[in-house]
Amino acid sequence: MAFDLDMIKKVYDRYSTRVEAARKATGKPLTLTEKILYAHLSEGDAQTAFGRGVDYVDFAPDRVAMQDATAQMALLQFMQAGRPQVAVPSTVHCDHLIQAKIGAVEDLSTAVDVNREVYDFLASVSDKYGIGFWKAGAGIIHQVVLENYAFPGGMMIGTDSHTPNAGGLGMIAIGVGGADACDVMAGLPWELKFPKLIGVKLTGKLSGWTSAKDVILRVAGILTVKGGTGAIVEYFGEGARSLSATGKGTICNMGAEIGATTSIFGYDEKAAAYLKGTKRADIAELADAIAEHLTGDDEVYANPEQYFDQVIEINLSELEPHVNGPFTPDLAWPISKFATAVKENNWPTKLEVGLIGSCTNSSYEDITRSASIAKQAIDKKLKTQAEFTITPGSELVRYTVDRDGYLDTFAQMGGVVLANACGPCIGQWARHTDDPTRKNSIITSFNRNFAKRQDGNPNTHAFVASPEIVTAFAIAGDLTFNPLTDTLTNEAGEQVKFDEPQGIEMPVKGYAVEDAGYQAPAEDGSKVEVIVSPTSSRLQLLEPFKAWEGTDITGLKLLIKAKGKCTTDHISMAGPWLKFRGHLDNISNNMLIGAINYFNLTADNVKNELTGEYGPVPATQRAYKAAGIGSIVVGDENYGEGSSREHAAMEPRHLGVRAILVKSFARIHETNLKKQGMLGITFADNNDYDKIQEDDTIDITGLTTFAPGKQLTVVLHHKDGSTESFPVNHTYNAQQIEWFKAGGALNIIRKQMAS
Ligand code: SF4
Repeated sequence: MAFDLDMIKKVYDRYSTRVEAARKATGKPLTLTEKILYAHLSEGDAQTAFGRGVDYVDFAPDRVAMQDATAQMALLQFMQAGRPQVAVPSTVHCDHLIQAKIGAVEDLSTAVDVNREVYDFLASVSDKYGIGFWKAGAGIIHQVVLENYAFPGGMMIGTDSHTPNAGGLGMIAIGVGGADACDVMAGLPWELKFPKLIGVKLTGKLSGWTSAKDVILRVAGILTVKGGTGAIVEYFGEGARSLSATGKGTICNMGAEIGATTSIFGYDEKAAAYLKGTKRADIAELADAIAEHLTGDDEVYANPEQYFDQVIEINLSELEPHVNGPFTPDLAWPISKFATAVKENNWPTKLEVGLIGSCTNSSYEDITRSASIAKQAIDKKLKTQAEFTITPGSELVRYTVDRDGYLDTFAQMGGVVLANACGPCIGQWARHTDDPTRKNSIITSFNRNFAKRQDGNPNTHAFVASPEIVTAFAIAGDLTFNPLTDTLTNEAGEQVKFDEPQGIEMPVKGYAVEDAGYQAPAEDGSKVEVIVSPTSSRLQLLEPFKAWEGTDITGLKLLIKAKGKCTTDHISMAGPWLKFRGHLDNISNNMLIGAINYFNLTADNVKNELTGEYGPVPATQRAYKAAGIGSIVVGDENYGEGSSREHAAMEPRHLGVRAILVKSFARIHETNLKKQGMLGITFADNNDYDKIQEDDTIDITGLTTFAPGKQLTVVLHHKDGSTESFPVNHTYNAQQIEWFKAGGALNIIRKQMAS
């Protein structure tokens, strides 16, 4: 942790100066979000980017966190950079690949077996390059980060969409793709579109059954799953200051469900207490010294409408517990209206499973509040009607709540403790069900509830609520039950009612753990060997991509002219392919299999110009590659929209596609292509799309004088011997042209490191 403290000191050293400079430059008071963003502008942008209205800006994040599924390709790529160590503190967390089936011990041991080659790779690559490694069973990335790495005023990127959880401790924490993580670890700046700002003013104070979870369930209801897109949500007000740091983490975590870039709370007494409680008093002390900069300016919070693009106000004293769902997290029901909604919509009233925990809701406070309900069930002789599982977020929390007797309470009410991992939250759940075709209901304290998310069953109606509400529902086994007002019949035939849940914010005896599951990297990793079996089907070391040959690119075959939508999912499908995400050659067998061929309107069926036969896209491209012939992909509007998936840029590069020519690109995909040394160009006149014929041979000229803002030319040699040419645009800046020439951004870094 000393490494971290030095890093945090450095961040805080420049923080106040940057904030003051930004205030001066903008001539106005600042929100917390602006302060942190300005404090993390990369050196090049620091002088110019103060002030909104700027578009894409380069930042220098302090940390990188990666989960085991997405870390594989990020780290395989990072190895290409030739650095002896990562440029910023980074961690890997083994949490996504553990299937929940029987219980914590058995499931963990199966996972260690099944995923051995992935875990061995991640452990060894972490060891070599100075990356902290959290073993399987150590906990879920966001909970572990909150307990160990999040700090007020910091900036982190993480290869998981719920990275914003760290906003609970005042950190700007943003979920990204593996390519971005690789760049930051390699020492490159990280680009973000300057966000819009949404302010959420919290007044009043939570009480009774209402918890922090209900704040975000309500916000999701107001903003919907799209309302936060492109925005950072900043919470403030006396209500915000009254929430525990872990409760704030829950709110920021689930901000991903409204599409927000991230969410954040200011530094306050609760944050300081949590830092001290998790053995980071030294960080609290550093934060205290610049506390005024770790929250928004008073003027901003006094007149938020003047400084935020949108302001929402929620009175915590009046907020009801909520249940959101089914099938979408923004269908928000106050508990008083939920039973009617269940009946009116004909949702299955019988609750089959209640699941608490996950990265969203497994703090000590969450567990103690839920356990207080479980204890009442035992004392009041209520028999639990639904299945009930508990997924602790980390070994630190699991050990502590076990020591304090809460897991025992859950066991007495019939609960099953699962491994400290994602498990059912990400569909890693071998659910026991007698009839998967039956419409059925489950309720969780997780964050996402889209169809099939938890158990892969489209008939499952998944609802989301706070852990204490989930616990009460699991005991009742009935979704029309309102724990605030209704009674249940106990085993003695008496009517009994729950008292309000009671929780403890942090353990009175302090947090404890025997083995947190952390493996520190080697001091000097130069001798450490990265473990990848040459026969593995899941992992493959990468070869550097070839540099540009220095001439125009000629004689390209048309691989596919895609019609209509071509998202990153059409280019590199997910689902069963994800198990190959660490093996570029194997996953390349999904390349563009979802794209529709303009000439026959079918997917994964293109003409092989060498044989004249139609076949799958990847096989056709492999035939061109084997013959030493390059190819080009042509696409429609907004090519590559969707989640930032580096595989969608790497696969064509790996299989020998030389250029992507489209009407327009989704920006992130365009940048990813550039990073891989690929040529991404756009029609100057979209009507030229129609000129491209199936049997064309295609040249791209002008590359020897490739320069920012200067058009290139595409030449079509039609089968009938005629030729057409037209200009094409590109958005490469000088640096990106160097990436193209070198065969990829990482090739440049490797050269720099070697010199
Ligand atoms: S627990 Fe769920 S939301 Fe959290 S990191 Fe795991 S899969 Fe994502």
